[in-house]
Amino acid sequence: MLYLDNSATTPIHPQVKDAMLPYLLEEFGNPSSKYYEAAINAKEAVKLARKNVASLLNCQPNEIIFTSGSTESNNFIIKGMTDQLKSHGNHIITTNIEHSSVLEVCKYLQTIGFELTILEVNAAGHINAEQFLQAIKPTTIFASIQWGNNELGSLNPIVKIAEICSKNNIFLHADATQVVGKIEINLEEVDGLNSISISAHKFYGPKGSGAVYLRRDQYGLYPSITPLIHGGGQEDGLRSGTLAVHNIVGLGKASEIAKQNLKKNISQLYELEAYLIKILQNKFGNNIKFNYPTQNKIPGIISVQFIGINNEILVKKLAPLIALSTGSACSSSKPSHVLAAIGLNLNEIRQTIRISLSPYIQQNELNVFNEL
Ligand code: PMP
Repeated sequence: MLYLDNSATTPIHPQVKDAMLPYLLEEFGNPSSKYYEAAINAKEAVKLARKNVASLLNCQPNEIIFTSGSTESNNFIIKGMTDQLKSHGNHIITTNIEHSSVLEVCKYLQTIGFELTILEVNAAGHINAEQFLQAIKPTTIFASIQWGNNELGSLNPIVKIAEICSKNNIFLHADATQVVGKIEINLEEVDGLNSISISAHKFYGPKGSGAVYLRRDQYGLYPSITPLIHGGGQEDGLRSGTLAVHNIVGLGKASEIAKQNLKKNISQLYELEAYLIKILQNKFGNNIKFNYPTQNKIPGIISVQFIGINNEILVKKLAPLIALSTGSACSSSKPSHVLAAIGLNLNEIRQTIRISLSPYIQQNELNVFNEL
């Protein structure tokens, strides 16, 4: 079976597994304990992981806060920052293709008095900087803009939006879950971007492990933010709970590997995508239609309609041969709000499948599509 649902999740890299195992076995110490070896080793392992995550994102290690994944990271930043900034205004901006862990949080905030603008993407799944600028009000305090989309692969102009936010004193958060390991990220160069969410299981690390990057100011201080999880004060008091050392080590190792292979993996994803598109075009011609944008796109995500064929039936039928999905794994029972946002009707949504590639497969494995 060929696994092509890598935007839903990825398998753990063998080196990630090897790095994690000691922390499930002999190195079981609590990194908050002191003096004895198992605790010191756990603390050192967490420190190294933090350094590796920061290196992948090009930020400082003390700007990384470990979490259970992007759902928590998005909740923490959106709720925590808006709670602190509410005395300055109540308007927040997001887009209509966000993951539910952003959209649902913003909609919740609406119920407690925030005003929400949901920007509409164009047919390629992008918002533009001008559109963002137009949405700003004197009361705008916060924006959450997806960096790259999980169903289409569309990339938003985060650098331009960050410039606008910086000039207008708006806190900008970006859900970067889908872009880590697939595009170059250099947070030092994107001044106005205040926070991002990442999740290890999207780039060959373990599930239930992620992080927030939260920018410190010129004095080395975090902005005031209300924690989502109060307790023992771990992670600078911003995310309490005994650190999941094995999962953090897994995230760190996955980051180290992603950084080492970044250029190679990106070019492999582009090559695999071009190869597969050619196969699909030759084999299915006018019976298929691609939804994805051609520019400003994460490599390796293909959203395609098989005209007249129900996507659930197709994905089920292909399952013994190829693992695919109809869209986001998180909301597969509902018609995709992302595909609706780019203007597809229900019929077109119901015939769309998502193919998400991995740089760790070989081109010839994609020949399986020739045999369908
Ligand atoms: N944001 C995006 C864009 C995602 O694709 C996902 C996972 N499907 C999430 C957030 C949630 O991540 P996690 O599984 O780590 O909670």
